[in-house]
Amino acid sequence: MARGLQTIRSLSVLITRRSLSTTAFRTSPSILPQTQIFRSDPPLRAYRRSLLLSNRTVGLVPTMGALHAGHLSLARLAALENTDVFVSIYINPTQFGLHEDLSSYPKTWDADLAALDALDKELATIPGAGRISAIFAPTTDIMYPTLPPDSAVDGKGSFVTITPLATLLEGASRPVFFRGVATVCMKLFNICTPERVYFGQKDVQQTVVIRRLVKDFHVDTDVRVGPTQREESGLAMSSRNVYLGARRRAVAVVLSQALRRAEEQYVAGKRKRGDILAPATWHLGRVAAEQEGLAKARRACFDVDYIALSDPETMEEVQEVDPERGAILSGAIKMKELEEPGEGEECGVGGGRIAVRLIDNIILQPVV
Ligand code: AMP
Repeated sequence: MARGLQTIRSLSVLITRRSLSTTAFRTSPSILPQTQIFRSDPPLRAYRRSLLLSNRTVGLVPTMGALHAGHLSLARLAALENTDVFVSIYINPTQFGLHEDLSSYPKTWDADLAALDALDKELATIPGAGRISAIFAPTTDIMYPTLPPDSAVDGKGSFVTITPLATLLEGASRPVFFRGVATVCMKLFNICTPERVYFGQKDVQQTVVIRRLVKDFHVDTDVRVGPTQREESGLAMSSRNVYLGARRRAVAVVLSQALRRAEEQYVAGKRKRGDILAPATWHLGRVAAEQEGLAKARRACFDVDYIALSDPETMEEVQEVDPERGAILSGAIKMKELEEPGEGEECGVGGGRIAVRLIDNIILQPVV
């Protein structure tokens, strides 16, 4: 192996030993099939330039780590459309509100590297597929070079704000979320200058925000959206699902079930908001009441944050779906803490004591 280059496995050990210092691990711009890990932007920029000069294309998959099949599906998609896939792993502090779960957000660095290594080996067997050539795992002083990142609503710093889009739905519940997402994505796009960027439909409002950012700031990249990956039950995969445990996981499926019921109305020809959303709201209410009626040792209670029917470009709620535009059905629920975790019960990471906010959506396709 050339000096200054390490593959995933050797770097995992090295990074653990160095306790995630800000050292740039890769210094040579030559192109190797192995995945390389970058901790700062100058060597990544040099590498990216070398790819450009070799007529190679880059697909960027931004993530916060704790990788699951949803993230990997985006990397796979990126490999089908680019010669090189960059995966960023960075838990971005500015998208977490002051009272949100930044410190408890799952961190699974070694498992993430192993998953990307396995995927890269799979890609090596697919004729014409690109490879995962870079993992960008910067530290916060690299990503926020001027000020300590500030998550306050009136926080100081250089931010990308997109209004009113970023204030609706998820933005209403999490006021700094999209400002943080748009800001960190702008930084990642500037550093990686990818031909294409990959986002999951699971976070549908995020995809709308990113498309707007790319359009309004003339970012020279193509936004690609991959389908939501689900567990067999229908529950959308999420890094936060590890906190659920069996009891709450079984009930959490209520959100995707409710959205499906609403979708059925649209497919059956209903266009009015009330007609489409009523069965979803009814289902959520029925399951919530059912759980509340159970003993504390058996129940998994939840609050509904919102169920929405929105315009696909503005995310403004609509009273009636224009069949030529379609619409987005989306929702968020909060699975509350377990009140009485049972003896020996599998309660997930945190022992059932961490509330878990879940989101999901379905796109109601235009009817031509
Ligand atoms: P995160 O690490 O949660 O910020 O997610 C990184 C990317 O993975 C985002 O574009 C998400 O929309 C996408 N993603 C997360 N969960 C899923 C899923 N279940 N299916 C498809 N994409 C997903």
